[in-house]
Amino acid sequence: MPCWYELSWREKETAILLRVHKDFIATIERLVSGKPDLPLFDIIAGLRGSLGFEKFTLSFNENFGFNDAFLHVGEKDGFAEFLIKIPEVQKYTDEICPECKGSGNDKHFNGECSWCHGKGKHLVFDWKSAYAISASFTVFSMLARFPDIKTSSNMSQLLTIETKTNKEMHGGSLWGIYSPMLCKWLVSIGETEIPEVVLAMEKAYGKMFGIHGFYEDEFRAHNNSGWLIIDCPGDRTGIHPSTVWSDKGCEFSCHNVDSPVQQITLIAGLAALHDKGKNF
Ligand SMILES: [Zn+2]
Repeated sequence: MPCWYELSWREKETAILLRVHKDFIATIERLVSGKPDLPLFDIIAGLRGSLGFEKFTLSFNENFGFNDAFLHVGEKDGFAEFLIKIPEVQKYTDEICPECKGSGNDKHFNGECSWCHGKGKHLVFDWKSAYAISASFTVFSMLARFPDIKTSSNMSQLLTIETKTNKEMHGGSLWGIYSPMLCKWLVSIGETEIPEVVLAMEKAYGKMFGIHGFYEDEFRAHNNSGWLIIDCPGDRTGIHPSTVWSDKGCEFSCHNVDSPVQQITLIAGLAALHDKGKNF
């Protein structure tokens, strides 16, 4: 199938770039315009209400999604481009840590304050920006599941992703399809790690949640002739093939993706995989 959207990893900006083909945008606009009764709009309202977003934009000519999560940065070669900046989820404010009153020391034991990790500053979690990205992907992936048309792009669709967003356990699921072309490349490279995928995930996770640091061996992208296992920090969290390779490609699904941080980390890895597969 000719490409209707693609992902790319932007190391320098610590961001995912989503590129959406203009032919596909035209079909979405036809699909949704003047149809406020579509179930899609109930889902959007539900996500907005449950996660407390201020706004939602269903347009590809401006910032797309919840709270401007997908920044419209222009158009190139027939694709509208959206920069999805990885947010800081865990971050220090300028206020002093309420537990150690700014000393950075534990009140009861020798050693650093476990609330602020010895910094003396108030450490907070800002989940909303991560949920806004996750929920925007969820809406986008519902629209992008079946393109309905063949775009005029001369590139092939290399992979598709679908996501789910809610505050429950396993609330950050993702799944999708690696195209036959991508599978063929994965088969051809034999048994190997794919370091670009690991590096993108480390960078994304580090931006969101990296205040404590992490163990490098928690990130993995191991390909065994088309059988690709991608792992990120969590309880054996990651994505794996769920069907064997065929002329339709290979489906993948996830295990224990509980938070939007893990979900976004894995999408960053898939974006880097897309870059590498595309340049093959
Ligand atoms: Zn403290």
